[in-house]
Amino acid sequence: MPIRRIDPHCLLANEDWVENIAAFTCPACGCVFIVSEDLHREGRNCPGCFKARGHVKGRRDHRGTAEVRWGDTLVPDPASELTAEERAAAERDQLLIEVCRLWNGPDARPLTELIPESVPLTNLETAAFYGESEQLKQVLDAGADPNEPSALFGTALHAAADQGRLEAVRLLLERDADPARLNAQGQSPADVAAENGHEEVAELLRSAASPP
Ligand SMILES: [Zn+2]
Repeated sequence: MPIRRIDPHCLLANEDWVENIAAFTCPACGCVFIVSEDLHREGRNCPGCFKARGHVKGRRDHRGTAEVRWGDTLVPDPASELTAEERAAAERDQLLIEVCRLWNGPDARPLTELIPESVPLTNLETAAFYGESEQLKQVLDAGADPNEPSALFGTALHAAADQGRLEAVRLLLERDADPARLNAQGQSPADVAAENGHEEVAELLRSAASPP
């Protein structure tokens, strides 16, 4: 029975391997499919043809193995036609591969173009989340509203509070970000900081919300 093992040091164009998740190109039908050691302990059949089966054991950087075996006798074909779920799974895998390629490539397209239902982070929110103070200043200087609502966190202050970014929180407060604004869960930025164990940030936000 033919086996292809992914060489962790030399990936082919249509395969990938990150930790204990690998993407194989089915040698039988050409479909790309993803196998996760956690989700597919017994391996996973190619959702396109059921004539190949991928296995991942262990991690790429810890002498793990990722291999695909194929051949007509390998897997009893449960049905000649794919079910709607199997077809959808194959398409999702293909989309994920495409997203990874495009995301990492030089001509990366915006995520919203690739996945229309995704929730994009605003530049303000992203800079606040990562505590990138220079970028945060630039975005604010360019006229961003510091209280602009964001779908994911609530406001930029919530994003900075979530990650305990003290400097970003200070900067946002200086630029009139409102520390009393609540997110969709009814939490203030101070609540979010406290919930994530960033007590210093929570304290700063509390005193900004209720000045003496
Ligand atoms: Zn296949």
